[in-house]
Amino acid sequence: MNIIKIRTGDVLHLRKPHPCGCADFTVLRVGSQVRIVCRSCGRDMNIDRIKLEKAIKSITDADQALAQGKEQTE
Ligand SMILES: [Zn+2]
Repeated sequence: MNIIKIRTGDVLHLRKPHPCGCADFTVLRVGSQVRIVCRSCGRDMNIDRIKLEKAIKSITDADQALAQGKEQTE
């Protein structure tokens, strides 16, 4: 069984995309509820940690997310 570690700054790729079409969320705060912000539209929300863990497809940790951000040209 996988234990999912969520840390502040991680980027979560969820199974269910946000209404704006983006499924990537940055973690702002971790507790019994996790505060995440959509990377496309910038809307933030609180989700129960248990619910969130079930919705996660993959996680890019904070260091990786930074490295990828540098490679992307916008
Ligand atoms: Zn969004």
